[in-house]
Amino acid sequence: MAILFLFLDGVGIGKPGAANPLDASWPAIEQLAGGQRLTEPLSYILDEHHTVRAIDATLGVDGLPQSGTGQTALLCGINAPRIAGRHYGPYPHSKTRTQLTRKNIFSRILRVLNGTDEPVAFANAYPDRFFSFAKRRDRWTVTTRCCLDAGVRIRGEADARNGSALTADLTGEAWHDKLNIDVGRITPEKAGKRLAAISRQHAFTLFEYFHTDKAGHSRDHDRARNVLVDIDAFVGALLEELDPLSDLLLLCSDHGNLEDLEIKTHTRNPVPLIALGAKADLFHDVTDLTGVTPAIEKAAVALSNRAISSAS
Ligand SMILES: [Zn+2]
Repeated sequence: MAILFLFLDGVGIGKPGAANPLDASWPAIEQLAGGQRLTEPLSYILDEHHTVRAIDATLGVDGLPQSGTGQTALLCGINAPRIAGRHYGPYPHSKTRTQLTRKNIFSRILRVLNGTDEPVAFANAYPDRFFSFAKRRDRWTVTTRCCLDAGVRIRGEADARNGSALTADLTGEAWHDKLNIDVGRITPEKAGKRLAAISRQHAFTLFEYFHTDKAGHSRDHDRARNVLVDIDAFVGALLEELDPLSDLLLLCSDHGNLEDLEIKTHTRNPVPLIALGAKADLFHDVTDLTGVTPAIEKAAVALSNRAISSAS
């Protein structure tokens, strides 16, 4: 698995209670969080092979955190809302453009693992129509912009069909029902196994899941629960595949939303940062979104050095 980063959009650590769908029994999520729900008050775990903590997503800027600046902070290690002058989204802000190119997680790892065969991957598949829309308007999301700038392949419909990428909804159901694209349907468990298999071929693999944010905006409890049913099964499969001595599973978000269905907007709550497995201790001192990518870069170097020394 090496390093696998599961980025969940719009998941904060909020108060327990009826408005918070994370305040329910989600066995795999709880296992990942060290035997607790992802709600306040979160007990921090700072062990050698496990980090669980809440990190700040507001970055000292007023207003509600947004995806464009939040994801840029998370995936580039820069204070994007401060550079932009405000929280901005959903697309990356033009003032962060140069730094996004130079400092994004893919570019960083490609630089430090220079010479390794296909060290990084973005496991999401995009429908063909996404490419035509994005190209026509030059409007790319933060993750796809990171790929373009680092020269990382963005996977498409054929990849989802042949098992070398995942649809954003994990199962392919939303593609079938809403986009009328049939790439086959798989269970969330199968999606977890597939992602683990993809990540074994790379030093670092990113997967982005945005239905958590959509469910938060909808304020629909059934929709939120269904999303968490899928995520819990998916995470359960990932945990089965994880070798904690050589793999590192990461989970983080860009801002809160899902954890408070009383309101339809994002929140200023902190977000969970979970690192499980090899080099998880490199994440102990991360306190906000900007610390995640530098820690991943360090972990990638440390794990590759270990692989080299065990091979020689
Ligand atoms: Zn977001």
